[in-house]
Amino acid sequence: MSKKILIIGGVAGGASAAARLRRLDEDAQIIMLERDEYISFANCGLPYHIGDVIGERGSLIVQTPAAMHHRFRIDVRTFSEATAVDTVHKTVTINSAEKGVYQESYDSLVLSPGAGPFVPNFPGNHSARACTLRNLPDMDRIKDVVDSQSLKRAVVVGGGFVGLEMAENLRDKGVDVTIVEAAPHVMPPLDGDMSVILEKELQDNGVHLVLGDGIKSIEDKADCSVVETASGKQLEAELIVLAIGVRPATAFLKDSGIALGPKGHIIVDDQMRTNAPDVYAVGDAVQVKDFVTGAETAVPLAGPANKQGRIAADVICGLDSHYKATQGTSILKVFSLAAACTGANERTLKAKGIAYRKAVAHPFAHASYYPGATQIDAKLLYDGQGRILGCQMVGKEGVDKRVDVVATVLRLGGTVEDLTELELAYAPPFSAAKDPVNMLGYIAQNDLNGTSHLVDWDYALNRDPAATILLDVRTPREFGLGHAEGALNIPVDELRERLSELDPAKEIIEYCQVGLRGHVAYRILAQHGFRAVNVTGGWKTYAQTHFTPKA
Ligand code: FAD
Repeated sequence: MSKKILIIGGVAGGASAAARLRRLDEDAQIIMLERDEYISFANCGLPYHIGDVIGERGSLIVQTPAAMHHRFRIDVRTFSEATAVDTVHKTVTINSAEKGVYQESYDSLVLSPGAGPFVPNFPGNHSARACTLRNLPDMDRIKDVVDSQSLKRAVVVGGGFVGLEMAENLRDKGVDVTIVEAAPHVMPPLDGDMSVILEKELQDNGVHLVLGDGIKSIEDKADCSVVETASGKQLEAELIVLAIGVRPATAFLKDSGIALGPKGHIIVDDQMRTNAPDVYAVGDAVQVKDFVTGAETAVPLAGPANKQGRIAADVICGLDSHYKATQGTSILKVFSLAAACTGANERTLKAKGIAYRKAVAHPFAHASYYPGATQIDAKLLYDGQGRILGCQMVGKEGVDKRVDVVATVLRLGGTVEDLTELELAYAPPFSAAKDPVNMLGYIAQNDLNGTSHLVDWDYALNRDPAATILLDVRTPREFGLGHAEGALNIPVDELRERLSELDPAKEIIEYCQVGLRGHVAYRILAQHGFRAVNVTGGWKTYAQTHFTPKA
Protein backbone atom coordinates (compact mmCIF):
# COMPACT_ATOMS: atom_id res chain seq x y z
CA MET A 1 0.00 0.00 0.00
CA SER A 2 1.29 3.45 -0.82
CA LYS A 3 2.39 5.70 2.00
CA LYS A 4 0.54 8.95 2.71
CA ILE A 5 2.88 11.81 3.58
CA LEU A 6 1.72 15.25 4.68
CA ILE A 7 4.04 18.24 4.57
CA ILE A 8 3.22 21.47 6.42
CA GLY A 9 4.91 24.47 4.79
CA GLY A 10 5.63 24.74 1.10
CA VAL A 11 8.81 26.78 0.81
CA ALA A 12 12.46 25.92 1.51
CA GLY A 13 12.36 22.85 3.76
CA GLY A 14 8.87 21.68 2.78
CA ALA A 15 9.36 21.87 -0.99
CA SER A 16 12.79 20.30 -0.71
CA ALA A 17 11.34 17.38 1.27
CA ALA A 18 8.45 16.99 -1.18
CA ALA A 19 10.64 16.76 -4.29
CA ARG A 20 13.09 14.37 -2.65
CA LEU A 21 10.24 12.17 -1.39
CA ARG A 22 8.88 11.83 -4.88
CA ARG A 23 12.29 11.04 -6.33
CA LEU A 24 12.65 8.25 -3.78
CA ASP A 25 9.10 6.93 -3.75
CA GLU A 26 7.09 6.99 -6.95
CA ASP A 27 4.03 5.51 -5.22
CA ALA A 28 3.69 7.73 -2.15
CA GLN A 29 0.71 10.05 -1.82
CA ILE A 30 2.33 13.40 -1.02
CA ILE A 31 0.24 16.36 0.12
CA MET A 32 1.89 19.73 0.75
CA LEU A 33 -0.07 22.26 2.80
CA GLU A 34 0.75 25.96 2.53
CA ARG A 35 -1.25 28.58 4.34
CA ASP A 36 -0.30 31.37 1.90
CA GLU A 37 -0.73 31.76 -1.83
CA TYR A 38 2.81 30.88 -2.92
CA ILE A 39 5.05 27.86 -2.52
CA SER A 40 8.74 27.53 -3.14
CA PHE A 41 9.54 31.21 -3.60
CA ALA A 42 12.93 32.84 -3.13
CA ASN A 43 12.59 34.66 0.22
CA CYS A 44 16.27 35.50 -0.04
CA GLY A 45 15.61 37.57 -3.16
CA LEU A 46 12.76 39.68 -1.74
CA PRO A 47 14.83 42.75 -0.70
CA TYR A 48 16.47 42.83 -4.13
CA HIS A 49 13.18 43.05 -6.00
CA ILE A 50 12.20 45.98 -3.79
CA GLY A 51 15.46 47.65 -4.87
CA ASP A 52 14.87 46.68 -8.53
CA VAL A 53 18.11 44.69 -8.62
CA ILE A 54 15.93 41.69 -9.48
CA GLY A 55 13.62 43.29 -12.00
CA GLU A 56 11.27 40.42 -12.73
CA ARG A 57 8.93 39.56 -9.84
CA GLY A 58 8.12 36.20 -11.43
CA SER A 59 11.74 35.07 -11.21
CA LEU A 60 11.31 34.87 -7.42
CA ILE A 61 8.74 32.11 -7.83
CA VAL A 62 10.82 28.98 -8.16
CA GLN A 63 7.91 26.52 -8.37
CA THR A 64 4.17 26.81 -8.74
CA PRO A 65 1.61 24.32 -7.43
CA ALA A 66 0.82 23.35 -11.03
CA ALA A 67 4.48 22.76 -11.93
CA MET A 68 5.02 20.82 -8.70
CA HIS A 69 2.11 18.60 -9.61
CA HIS A 70 3.12 18.26 -13.22
CA ARG A 71 6.64 17.07 -12.49
CA PHE A 72 6.34 15.45 -9.07
CA ARG A 73 2.62 14.64 -8.76
CA ILE A 74 2.55 16.49 -5.46
CA ASP A 75 -0.91 17.47 -4.24
CA VAL A 76 -0.18 21.11 -3.33
CA ARG A 77 -2.89 22.84 -1.31
CA THR A 78 -2.38 26.58 -0.91
CA PHE A 79 -4.43 28.80 1.39
CA SER A 80 -4.51 25.70 3.61
CA GLU A 81 -3.36 26.30 7.15
CA ALA A 82 -2.62 23.43 9.51
CA THR A 83 -4.24 24.46 12.78
CA ALA A 84 -3.65 21.34 14.90
CA VAL A 85 -1.82 18.02 14.83
CA ASP A 86 -3.16 14.92 16.55
CA THR A 87 -0.14 12.68 16.93
CA VAL A 88 -2.15 9.85 18.52
CA HIS A 89 -4.66 9.42 15.69
CA LYS A 90 -2.15 10.75 13.13
CA THR A 91 -4.30 13.51 11.67
CA VAL A 92 -3.84 17.18 10.85
CA THR A 93 -6.67 19.71 11.09
CA ILE A 94 -6.63 22.05 8.12
CA ASN A 95 -8.38 25.37 7.66
CA SER A 96 -8.74 25.76 3.92
CA ALA A 97 -9.99 28.82 2.07
CA GLU A 98 -11.61 26.50 -0.46
CA LYS A 99 -12.80 23.54 1.64
CA GLY A 100 -13.26 25.00 5.10
CA VAL A 101 -12.04 23.03 8.13
CA TYR A 102 -11.27 19.36 7.56
CA GLN A 103 -8.90 16.67 8.73
CA GLU A 104 -6.30 14.75 6.81
CA SER A 105 -4.63 11.59 8.05
CA TYR A 106 -0.94 10.77 7.56
CA ASP A 107 1.47 7.90 7.73
CA SER A 108 4.37 10.37 7.94
CA LEU A 109 4.27 14.08 8.64
CA VAL A 110 6.96 16.65 7.82
CA LEU A 111 6.74 19.99 9.62
CA SER A 112 8.43 22.91 7.87
CA PRO A 113 6.40 25.93 9.00
CA GLY A 114 9.44 28.23 9.18
CA ALA A 115 9.66 31.26 11.41
CA GLY A 116 7.71 34.49 11.31
CA PRO A 117 9.01 38.02 11.91
CA PHE A 118 9.10 38.96 15.56
CA VAL A 119 7.22 42.14 16.39
CA PRO A 120 7.66 43.15 20.02
CA ASN A 121 4.90 44.68 22.02
CA PHE A 122 5.36 48.47 21.98
CA PRO A 123 2.96 51.38 21.46
CA GLY A 124 2.20 51.77 17.77
CA ASN A 125 3.60 48.40 16.68
CA HIS A 126 0.56 47.92 14.44
CA SER A 127 1.03 51.25 12.67
CA ALA A 128 -0.11 51.11 9.05
CA ARG A 129 3.33 52.44 8.09
CA ALA A 130 5.14 49.58 9.85
CA CYS A 131 5.83 46.35 7.99
CA THR A 132 7.79 43.13 8.11
CA LEU A 133 9.31 41.19 5.22
CA ARG A 134 8.84 37.45 4.99
CA ASN A 135 6.94 36.63 1.83
CA LEU A 136 5.81 37.93 -1.55
CA PRO A 137 2.72 39.82 -0.31
CA ASP A 138 4.93 41.59 2.28
CA MET A 139 7.35 42.46 -0.52
CA ASP A 140 4.57 43.74 -2.79
CA ARG A 141 3.29 45.97 -0.05
CA ILE A 142 6.68 47.51 0.64
CA LYS A 143 7.46 47.85 -3.06
CA ASP A 144 4.19 49.71 -3.64
CA VAL A 145 5.19 52.25 -1.01
CA VAL A 146 8.74 52.52 -2.37
CA ASP A 147 7.53 53.01 -5.94
CA SER A 148 4.78 55.46 -4.97
CA GLN A 149 7.24 58.39 -4.95
CA SER A 150 5.77 59.51 -1.61
CA LEU A 151 8.46 57.67 0.30
CA LYS A 152 11.29 59.94 1.36
CA ARG A 153 12.38 58.51 4.71
CA ALA A 154 12.48 55.00 6.11
CA VAL A 155 13.48 53.63 9.49
CA VAL A 156 14.74 50.05 9.49
CA VAL A 157 14.55 48.55 12.96
CA GLY A 158 17.12 45.77 13.30
CA GLY A 159 20.58 45.57 11.78
CA GLY A 160 20.69 41.87 10.92
CA PHE A 161 20.60 40.24 7.48
CA VAL A 162 17.12 41.40 6.45
CA GLY A 163 17.53 44.86 7.98
CA LEU A 164 20.81 45.56 6.21
CA GLU A 165 19.58 44.20 2.88
CA MET A 166 16.48 46.37 3.16
CA ALA A 167 18.55 49.43 4.11
CA GLU A 168 20.77 49.01 1.05
CA ASN A 169 17.90 48.45 -1.35
CA LEU A 170 15.88 51.38 -0.01
CA ARG A 171 18.97 53.60 -0.18
CA ASP A 172 19.55 52.50 -3.77
CA LYS A 173 16.03 53.76 -4.49
CA GLY A 174 16.98 57.17 -3.12
CA VAL A 175 15.27 56.80 0.26
CA ASP A 176 16.78 58.46 3.34
CA VAL A 177 17.37 55.44 5.61
CA THR A 178 18.08 55.17 9.33
CA ILE A 179 18.88 51.84 10.97
CA VAL A 180 17.92 51.51 14.63
CA GLU A 181 19.73 48.61 16.31
CA ALA A 182 19.47 47.80 20.00
CA ALA A 183 22.81 45.95 20.10
CA PRO A 184 26.03 47.98 20.04
CA HIS A 185 26.72 46.88 16.45
CA VAL A 186 24.95 45.71 13.30
CA MET A 187 25.22 42.10 12.05
CA PRO A 188 25.13 40.04 15.24
CA PRO A 189 26.84 36.96 13.71
CA LEU A 190 30.01 39.06 13.42
CA ASP A 191 32.05 40.40 16.30
CA GLY A 192 31.98 44.15 16.83
CA ASP A 193 35.46 44.64 15.40
CA MET A 194 34.21 43.27 12.06
CA SER A 195 30.77 44.89 12.17
CA VAL A 196 32.35 48.36 12.42
CA ILE A 197 33.71 47.89 8.91
CA LEU A 198 30.13 47.44 7.70
CA GLU A 199 28.95 50.40 9.76
CA LYS A 200 31.46 52.63 8.01
CA GLU A 201 30.32 51.31 4.63
CA LEU A 202 26.70 51.99 5.53
CA GLN A 203 27.51 55.54 6.58
CA ASP A 204 29.68 56.12 3.51
CA ASN A 205 26.59 55.24 1.50
CA GLY A 206 24.38 57.67 3.36
CA VAL A 207 22.66 55.30 5.80
CA HIS A 208 22.20 56.81 9.27
CA LEU A 209 22.93 54.55 12.22
CA VAL A 210 21.37 54.61 15.67
CA LEU A 211 23.19 51.86 17.56
CA GLY A 212 22.72 50.55 21.08
CA ASP A 213 19.22 52.02 21.11
CA GLY A 214 16.00 50.05 20.61
CA ILE A 215 12.60 51.12 19.36
CA LYS A 216 10.21 52.38 22.04
CA SER A 217 7.14 53.48 20.10
CA ILE A 218 5.65 54.52 16.79
CA GLU A 219 3.29 57.46 16.66
CA ASP A 220 1.31 57.99 13.47
CA LYS A 221 0.88 61.52 12.18
CA ALA A 222 -1.01 62.65 9.08
CA ASP A 223 1.84 62.42 6.60
CA CYS A 224 4.49 60.42 8.48
CA SER A 225 5.11 58.39 11.62
CA VAL A 226 7.51 59.18 14.43
CA VAL A 227 9.72 56.38 15.70
CA GLU A 228 10.91 57.06 19.22
CA THR A 229 13.90 55.15 20.52
CA ALA A 230 14.59 54.06 24.08
CA SER A 231 17.00 56.96 24.51
CA GLY A 232 14.36 59.44 23.33
CA LYS A 233 15.52 60.05 19.73
CA GLN A 234 12.63 60.88 17.39
CA LEU A 235 12.86 59.77 13.77
CA GLU A 236 10.24 60.69 11.19
CA ALA A 237 9.52 58.20 8.41
CA GLU A 238 6.88 57.23 5.89
CA LEU A 239 7.96 53.56 6.11
CA ILE A 240 9.15 51.54 9.08
CA VAL A 241 10.60 48.11 8.41
CA LEU A 242 10.63 45.89 11.48
CA ALA A 243 13.45 43.39 11.00
CA ILE A 244 14.01 42.47 14.61
CA GLY A 245 14.40 38.72 14.19
CA VAL A 246 12.16 35.71 13.81
CA ARG A 247 10.21 33.31 16.01
CA PRO A 248 9.32 29.72 15.03
CA ALA A 249 5.77 29.44 13.60
CA THR A 250 4.90 26.53 15.89
CA ALA A 251 1.88 27.86 17.84
CA PHE A 252 -0.39 25.33 16.09
CA LEU A 253 1.61 22.49 17.71
CA LYS A 254 0.79 23.66 21.24
CA ASP A 255 -1.46 20.73 22.17
CA SER A 256 0.12 18.15 19.88
CA GLY A 257 2.51 16.63 22.39
CA ILE A 258 5.40 17.42 20.03
CA ALA A 259 8.27 18.58 22.23
CA LEU A 260 9.30 22.20 21.80
CA GLY A 261 12.40 23.99 23.08
CA PRO A 262 12.41 27.06 25.34
CA LYS A 263 11.74 29.46 22.47
CA GLY A 264 9.16 27.27 20.73
CA HIS A 265 11.49 25.47 18.31
CA ILE A 266 10.68 21.86 17.51
CA ILE A 267 13.10 19.43 19.12
CA VAL A 268 14.46 16.86 16.65
CA ASP A 269 17.10 14.15 16.63
CA ASP A 270 19.87 13.94 14.06
CA GLN A 271 17.45 12.33 11.60
CA MET A 272 14.96 15.20 11.93
CA ARG A 273 12.57 13.03 13.98
CA THR A 274 10.45 14.70 16.62
CA ASN A 275 9.38 12.86 19.76
CA ALA A 276 6.06 11.92 18.08
CA PRO A 277 5.97 8.75 15.96
CA ASP A 278 6.43 9.39 12.23
CA VAL A 279 6.57 13.16 12.68
CA TYR A 280 9.64 14.94 11.31
CA ALA A 281 10.52 18.63 11.41
CA VAL A 282 12.98 20.79 9.45
CA GLY A 283 14.04 24.36 8.74
CA ASP A 284 13.76 27.57 10.71
CA ALA A 285 11.29 25.99 13.13
CA VAL A 286 13.69 23.40 14.55
CA GLN A 287 16.32 23.40 17.22
CA VAL A 288 19.69 22.07 16.07
CA LYS A 289 23.14 21.43 17.47
CA ASP A 290 25.78 24.07 17.04
CA PHE A 291 28.66 22.44 15.18
CA VAL A 292 31.37 24.20 17.21
CA THR A 293 29.95 24.48 20.73
CA GLY A 294 27.63 21.46 20.69
CA ALA A 295 24.93 23.62 22.31
CA GLU A 296 21.29 23.62 21.22
CA THR A 297 20.62 26.54 18.90
CA ALA A 298 18.38 27.73 16.06
CA VAL A 299 19.87 29.06 12.84
CA PRO A 300 17.29 30.41 10.37
CA LEU A 301 19.13 29.93 7.08
CA ALA A 302 18.11 28.51 3.73
CA GLY A 303 20.98 25.99 3.40
CA PRO A 304 20.20 24.06 6.57
CA ALA A 305 16.43 24.12 5.80
CA ASN A 306 16.96 22.61 2.34
CA LYS A 307 19.40 19.98 3.61
CA GLN A 308 17.15 19.00 6.49
CA GLY A 309 14.16 18.67 4.14
CA ARG A 310 16.14 16.25 2.03
CA ILE A 311 17.29 14.28 5.09
CA ALA A 312 13.75 13.96 6.48
CA ALA A 313 12.64 12.58 3.09
CA ASP A 314 15.57 10.15 3.05
CA VAL A 315 14.75 8.85 6.50
CA ILE A 316 11.03 8.46 5.68
CA CYS A 317 12.09 6.41 2.67
CA GLY A 318 14.44 4.20 4.67
CA LEU A 319 17.80 5.85 3.92
CA ASP A 320 20.22 6.34 6.78
CA SER A 321 20.82 10.09 6.41
CA HIS A 322 21.83 12.30 9.30
CA TYR A 323 21.96 16.01 10.05
CA LYS A 324 24.92 16.51 12.34
CA ALA A 325 24.87 20.19 13.22
CA THR A 326 24.72 23.73 11.89
CA GLN A 327 27.79 25.93 11.71
CA GLY A 328 25.96 29.09 10.65
CA THR A 329 27.91 29.78 7.48
CA SER A 330 26.42 32.93 6.01
CA ILE A 331 27.14 35.87 3.78
CA LEU A 332 25.69 39.32 3.24
CA LYS A 333 26.21 42.09 0.71
CA VAL A 334 26.48 45.59 2.14
CA PHE A 335 26.91 48.01 -0.76
CA SER A 336 30.42 47.33 -2.14
CA LEU A 337 31.32 44.89 0.63
CA ALA A 338 30.64 41.26 1.36
CA ALA A 339 30.60 40.06 4.97
CA ALA A 340 30.73 36.34 5.64
CA CYS A 341 31.28 34.06 8.58
CA THR A 342 31.29 30.45 9.67
CA GLY A 343 31.39 28.77 13.07
CA ALA A 344 31.48 30.59 16.38
CA ASN A 345 32.35 34.23 17.00
CA GLU A 346 34.25 35.58 19.99
CA ARG A 347 31.07 36.53 21.85
CA THR A 348 29.73 32.97 21.66
CA LEU A 349 33.04 31.40 22.63
CA LYS A 350 33.34 33.71 25.64
CA ALA A 351 29.72 33.04 26.67
CA LYS A 352 30.34 29.27 26.48
CA GLY A 353 33.65 29.50 28.32
CA ILE A 354 35.57 28.04 25.37
CA ALA A 355 39.21 29.13 25.32
CA TYR A 356 40.33 30.41 21.94
CA ARG A 357 43.09 32.25 20.15
CA LYS A 358 42.74 34.54 17.17
CA ALA A 359 44.63 35.54 14.08
CA VAL A 360 43.67 38.73 12.26
CA ALA A 361 44.96 39.55 8.79
CA HIS A 362 44.30 41.94 5.93
CA PRO A 363 45.55 40.04 2.88
CA PHE A 364 44.94 41.16 -0.70
CA ALA A 365 42.16 39.25 -2.42
CA HIS A 366 44.40 38.83 -5.46
CA ALA A 367 48.03 39.60 -6.25
CA SER A 368 48.71 43.18 -5.16
CA TYR A 369 50.55 43.95 -8.41
CA TYR A 370 47.58 42.95 -10.55
CA PRO A 371 45.14 45.84 -11.09
CA GLY A 372 42.19 46.27 -8.76
CA ALA A 373 43.57 44.43 -5.74
CA THR A 374 41.67 45.12 -2.52
CA GLN A 375 42.24 43.88 0.99
CA ILE A 376 40.12 41.37 2.87
CA ASP A 377 39.68 41.90 6.62
CA ALA A 378 39.87 38.41 8.05
CA LYS A 379 39.70 36.86 11.50
CA LEU A 380 40.30 33.22 12.36
CA LEU A 381 39.43 31.73 15.75
CA TYR A 382 41.04 28.46 16.86
CA ASP A 383 41.81 26.56 20.03
CA GLY A 384 45.14 25.63 21.61
CA GLN A 385 45.30 22.42 19.55
CA GLY A 386 44.71 24.32 16.32
CA ARG A 387 41.09 23.21 15.82
CA ILE A 388 39.26 25.86 13.83
CA LEU A 389 36.39 27.39 15.78
CA GLY A 390 35.22 30.19 13.52
CA CYS A 391 36.10 32.64 10.81
CA GLN A 392 34.82 36.07 9.76
CA MET A 393 35.75 38.08 6.70
CA VAL A 394 34.75 41.40 5.17
CA GLY A 395 35.93 42.72 1.83
CA LYS A 396 35.11 43.74 -1.71
CA GLU A 397 36.32 40.60 -3.47
CA GLY A 398 36.89 36.91 -2.79
CA VAL A 399 35.31 36.84 0.67
CA ASP A 400 32.76 34.21 -0.33
CA LYS A 401 35.23 31.64 -1.56
CA ARG A 402 37.65 32.12 1.36
CA VAL A 403 34.95 31.72 4.01
CA ASP A 404 33.59 28.71 2.15
CA VAL A 405 37.04 27.12 2.15
CA VAL A 406 37.43 27.67 5.90
CA ALA A 407 33.84 26.46 6.44
CA THR A 408 34.72 23.25 4.62
CA VAL A 409 37.84 22.64 6.68
CA LEU A 410 35.91 23.43 9.87
CA ARG A 411 33.13 21.00 8.87
CA LEU A 412 35.71 18.26 8.28
CA GLY A 413 37.16 18.83 11.75
CA GLY A 414 40.29 20.46 10.32
CA THR A 415 43.00 22.50 11.98
CA VAL A 416 45.03 25.60 11.20
CA GLU A 417 47.71 23.18 9.98
CA ASP A 418 45.27 22.01 7.32
CA LEU A 419 44.77 25.62 6.17
CA THR A 420 48.51 25.92 5.53
CA GLU A 421 48.44 22.76 3.40
CA LEU A 422 45.48 23.64 1.17
CA GLU A 423 46.49 23.91 -2.45
CA LEU A 424 44.13 26.51 -3.89
CA ALA A 425 43.70 27.88 -7.39
CA TYR A 426 46.07 30.76 -8.09
CA ALA A 427 46.81 33.19 -10.88
CA PRO A 428 47.36 36.94 -10.25
CA PRO A 429 43.80 38.08 -11.11
CA PHE A 430 42.32 35.61 -8.60
CA SER A 431 44.54 35.12 -5.59
CA ALA A 432 48.12 35.03 -4.35
CA ALA A 433 50.56 32.12 -4.35
CA LYS A 434 49.90 32.07 -0.62
CA ASP A 435 46.13 32.42 -0.61
CA PRO A 436 44.53 34.49 2.19
CA VAL A 437 43.33 31.20 3.67
CA ASN A 438 46.90 29.83 3.68
CA MET A 439 48.06 33.11 5.28
CA LEU A 440 45.56 32.80 8.11
CA GLY A 441 46.80 29.24 8.60
CA TYR A 442 50.46 30.36 8.71
CA ILE A 443 49.76 33.12 11.20
CA ALA A 444 47.83 30.78 13.48
CA GLN A 445 50.39 28.00 13.05
CA ASN A 446 53.22 30.38 14.08
CA ASP A 447 51.16 31.48 17.06
CA LEU A 448 50.72 27.89 18.18
CA ASN A 449 54.21 26.56 17.54
CA GLY A 450 55.95 29.41 19.34
CA THR A 451 57.50 31.14 16.33
CA SER A 452 55.15 34.00 17.07
CA HIS A 453 53.05 35.18 19.97
CA LEU A 454 49.87 37.01 19.04
CA VAL A 455 47.90 39.38 21.22
CA ASP A 456 45.03 41.69 20.36
CA TRP A 457 44.51 45.42 20.81
CA ASP A 458 42.66 44.91 24.09
CA TYR A 459 45.84 43.43 25.47
CA ALA A 460 47.99 46.21 24.01
CA LEU A 461 45.78 49.05 25.18
CA ASN A 462 45.33 47.68 28.69
CA ARG A 463 49.06 47.17 29.19
CA ASP A 464 50.99 48.22 32.27
CA PRO A 465 53.19 51.06 30.94
CA ALA A 466 55.76 50.48 33.69
CA ALA A 467 56.31 46.86 32.66
CA THR A 468 55.88 47.07 28.87
CA ILE A 469 57.02 48.98 25.80
CA LEU A 470 54.52 49.63 23.01
CA LEU A 471 56.59 49.50 19.83
CA ASP A 472 55.42 50.65 16.39
CA VAL A 473 57.68 49.07 13.76
CA ARG A 474 56.27 50.94 10.75
CA THR A 475 58.00 53.77 8.90
CA PRO A 476 58.10 57.26 10.47
CA ARG A 477 55.68 58.39 7.76
CA GLU A 478 53.12 55.74 8.68
CA PHE A 479 53.68 56.50 12.35
CA GLY A 480 53.05 60.17 11.66
CA LEU A 481 49.70 59.41 10.06
CA GLY A 482 48.42 57.83 13.27
CA HIS A 483 49.69 55.57 16.01
CA ALA A 484 48.71 54.14 19.39
CA GLU A 485 49.17 56.47 22.30
CA GLY A 486 52.51 56.06 24.05
CA ALA A 487 54.06 54.03 21.23
CA LEU A 488 57.77 54.20 20.45
CA ASN A 489 58.62 54.14 16.73
CA ILE A 490 61.50 51.98 15.50
CA PRO A 491 60.99 50.82 11.90
CA VAL A 492 61.54 47.09 11.49
CA ASP A 493 64.43 47.67 9.07
CA GLU A 494 66.34 49.63 11.78
CA LEU A 495 65.42 47.34 14.64
CA ARG A 496 68.61 45.24 14.76
CA GLU A 497 70.76 48.39 15.03
CA ARG A 498 68.54 50.03 17.65
CA LEU A 499 67.91 47.15 20.06
CA SER A 500 69.83 49.02 22.76
CA GLU A 501 66.93 51.51 22.95
CA LEU A 502 64.72 48.75 24.35
CA ASP A 503 64.71 47.68 28.01
CA PRO A 504 65.13 43.86 28.02
CA ALA A 505 63.36 43.66 31.37
CA LYS A 506 60.13 44.87 29.80
CA GLU A 507 57.66 43.06 27.58
CA ILE A 508 57.71 44.52 24.06
CA ILE A 509 54.21 44.81 22.59
CA GLU A 510 54.85 45.57 18.95
CA TYR A 511 52.66 46.22 15.96
CA CYS A 512 52.95 47.18 12.30
CA GLN A 513 50.31 48.02 9.70
CA VAL A 514 48.73 44.56 9.21
CA GLY A 515 50.84 42.15 11.27
CA LEU A 516 53.44 40.98 8.74
CA ARG A 517 56.30 43.34 9.58
CA GLY A 518 55.27 42.87 13.18
CA HIS A 519 56.03 39.17 12.79
CA VAL A 520 59.48 39.94 11.35
CA ALA A 521 60.08 42.29 14.28
CA TYR A 522 58.90 39.59 16.69
CA ARG A 523 61.40 37.13 15.25
CA ILE A 524 64.26 39.63 15.59
CA LEU A 525 63.32 40.52 19.15
CA ALA A 526 62.70 36.93 20.26
CA GLN A 527 66.01 35.75 18.83
CA HIS A 528 67.80 38.57 20.67
CA GLY A 529 66.32 37.45 23.97
CA PHE A 530 63.47 39.97 24.31
CA ARG A 531 60.04 39.02 25.59
CA ALA A 532 57.86 40.20 22.73
CA VAL A 533 54.31 39.88 21.47
CA ASN A 534 52.83 40.95 18.12
CA VAL A 535 49.46 42.69 17.94
CA THR A 536 47.47 40.63 15.43
CA GLY A 537 46.02 42.62 12.53
CA GLY A 538 48.24 45.61 13.32
CA TRP A 539 47.31 49.27 13.04
CA LYS A 540 44.73 48.61 10.33
CA THR A 541 42.70 46.60 12.82
CA TYR A 542 43.06 49.35 15.43
CA ALA A 543 41.97 52.04 12.98
CA GLN A 544 38.95 50.00 11.88
CA THR A 545 37.94 48.96 15.38
CA HIS A 546 38.10 52.50 16.65
CA PHE A 547 35.83 53.86 13.96
CA THR A 548 32.97 55.60 15.72
CA PRO A 549 29.73 55.81 13.74
CA LYS A 550 28.49 59.38 13.38
CA ALA A 551 25.53 60.17 15.61
P1 FAD B 1 9.97 28.96 5.03
O1 FAD B 1 10.80 28.93 3.82
O2 FAD B 1 9.67 30.28 5.64
O3 FAD B 1 8.61 28.22 4.73
C1 FAD B 1 7.63 28.05 5.71
C2 FAD B 1 6.28 28.08 5.04
O4 FAD B 1 5.38 27.45 5.91
C3 FAD B 1 5.76 29.49 4.83
O5 FAD B 1 5.43 29.70 3.48
C4 FAD B 1 4.52 29.57 5.72
O6 FAD B 1 3.48 30.33 5.14
C5 FAD B 1 4.13 28.12 5.84
N1 FAD B 1 3.40 27.82 7.07
C6 FAD B 1 3.72 28.20 8.33
N2 FAD B 1 2.84 27.71 9.20
C7 FAD B 1 1.94 26.98 8.48
C8 FAD B 1 0.79 26.23 8.83
N3 FAD B 1 0.40 26.12 10.09
N4 FAD B 1 0.12 25.63 7.85
C9 FAD B 1 0.49 25.74 6.54
N5 FAD B 1 1.58 26.45 6.16
C10 FAD B 1 2.31 27.05 7.13
N6 FAD B 1 18.68 32.54 4.25
C11 FAD B 1 19.90 32.39 3.72
O7 FAD B 1 20.55 31.37 3.97
N7 FAD B 1 20.45 33.35 2.92
C12 FAD B 1 19.79 34.49 2.60
O8 FAD B 1 20.30 35.33 1.85
C13 FAD B 1 18.51 34.70 3.16
N8 FAD B 1 17.83 35.83 2.90
C14 FAD B 1 16.56 35.98 3.42
C15 FAD B 1 15.88 37.14 3.13
C16 FAD B 1 14.59 37.33 3.63
C17 FAD B 1 13.86 38.58 3.35
C18 FAD B 1 14.00 36.31 4.43
C19 FAD B 1 12.61 36.49 4.96
C20 FAD B 1 14.68 35.15 4.72
C21 FAD B 1 15.98 34.97 4.22
N9 FAD B 1 16.71 33.82 4.50
C22 FAD B 1 17.97 33.67 3.99
C23 FAD B 1 16.18 32.77 5.38
C24 FAD B 1 15.58 31.63 4.60
O9 FAD B 1 14.66 32.12 3.69
C25 FAD B 1 14.93 30.66 5.57
O10 FAD B 1 15.92 30.17 6.44
C26 FAD B 1 14.26 29.48 4.89
O11 FAD B 1 13.30 29.90 3.99
C27 FAD B 1 13.61 28.58 5.95
O12 FAD B 1 12.91 27.55 5.34
P2 FAD B 1 11.65 26.89 6.06
O13 FAD B 1 11.13 25.85 5.15
O14 FAD B 1 12.00 26.53 7.43
O15 FAD B 1 10.62 28.09 6.19
